[in-house]
Amino acid sequence: MGFSGVDYFGLDDLFTHEQKLIRNTVRQFVDEEVLPIIKESFEAGHFPTQLIPKIAELGLLGATLKEYGGAGIDAIAYGLAMQELERGDSGIRSFCSVQNGLVIYPIYTFGSPEQKERWLPKLIQGEAVGCFGLTEPEHGSDPGAMETVAERDGNYFILNGTKAWITNATLAHVAIVWAKLDGVIRGFLVERGTKGFSTAKIEHKMSARASDTGELYLHDCRIPKENLLPGVEGLKGPLMCLNQGRYAIAWGAVGAAMACYEEAVEYAKQRVQFDKPIASFQLVQEKLVEMLTEITKAQLVCFRLGQLKEVGKGKPVQISLAKRNNVAMALHCARLARDILGANGITLDYQSIRHMLNLESVYTLEGTDHIQTLILGQDITGIQAFK
Ligand SMILES: Cc1cc2nc3c(=O)[nH]c(=O)nc-3n(C[C@H](O)[C@H](O)[C@H](O)COP(=O)(O)OP(=O)(O)OC[C@H]3O[C@@H](n4cnc5c(N)ncnc54)[C@H](O)[C@@H]3O)c2cc1C
Repeated sequence: MGFSGVDYFGLDDLFTHEQKLIRNTVRQFVDEEVLPIIKESFEAGHFPTQLIPKIAELGLLGATLKEYGGAGIDAIAYGLAMQELERGDSGIRSFCSVQNGLVIYPIYTFGSPEQKERWLPKLIQGEAVGCFGLTEPEHGSDPGAMETVAERDGNYFILNGTKAWITNATLAHVAIVWAKLDGVIRGFLVERGTKGFSTAKIEHKMSARASDTGELYLHDCRIPKENLLPGVEGLKGPLMCLNQGRYAIAWGAVGAAMACYEEAVEYAKQRVQFDKPIASFQLVQEKLVEMLTEITKAQLVCFRLGQLKEVGKGKPVQISLAKRNNVAMALHCARLARDILGANGITLDYQSIRHMLNLESVYTLEGTDHIQTLILGQDITGIQAFK
């Protein structure tokens, strides 16, 4: 039987017919095509590339765009789709939300008409994959200190630097590389096959194993001057992209928590110790109540955030609050579920440990939990505490 959802406060009554249809379609896709293969992908440390055409067919790439072949769905429908994908695995949601928020979004928002024509249809149809190179080996939370540089050379730019921890790195046909030009952060499109540009997979990860994570190397990499994203200057560019990504993560984390909760409830009802199902013990029930309560609160945060985003009123700080709360909530739920499953909980035959391990990455990426805290602290007090 497929996943029936976790909806204690009747949010389904507030979703439109179309939002529910999209959610249920992605839910079915996850049940039928992600869950049967994800354990093997995670164990092998490979992103299941065979899913890319199907993800594109479902309209999940460029999903909120109305142009260039995008499905033009609303912010809540998009959030629900991300929720369901991450219920399958964080790696699937990451593939999709990086392609959307960190690749299609900057090309659409900051790109030239030629860049849009060249890349958006292919990225939306799943014929091309993109990645987003901001983080460097020595600069994660503080990307403004990046060392990657671009220099002018006639009709070209020459890029030098290394980007680390890049989702979709080794799959990507095009990388959005953020580098300093005359000391100012700018975005550049670097195409696979360009001399001086190479990628390598990061091996031995114990988290996000079904996600492609790698490094980008730029060594005297010469790109045409037309590959500069003309529409933005400074850290604002990548930060605007990260807001899109964090929005998807806030919803995705709810999906991971829902998967863990469902698994824990089913297990607790069946597992017998001391001649009773463990679900009959108060300490186990308390954990289930804690999970359901936190999931419900996070769902309400997402729903309202989606409404605000849809009308262009979702503030970056509100997205930070949702990312911070929901990822920490999901990690807590995954740990509680893993505990309820006892020793069985440490095997990949169940989902909770996989989600728990994945969520350790989600806690760190696109702005760590601390960084979201400091963003909110600054908003509350007016005092910047990053440095
Ligand atoms: C699976 C995965 C996928 C990723 N995908 C991408 C991608 O596609 N593109 C990309 O550009 N990056 C990507 N990242 C990188 C990610 O965004 C960074 O890991 C993240 O920004 C944190 O940087 P860092 O790992 O260098 O940690 P650091 O910045 O070194 O932080 C280490 C610790 O110090 C804390 N810290 C840092 N500064 C402060 C401060 N001022 N106050 C308090 N605490 C502080 C942090 O919160 C953290 O706990 C990915 C990471 C992972 C794990």
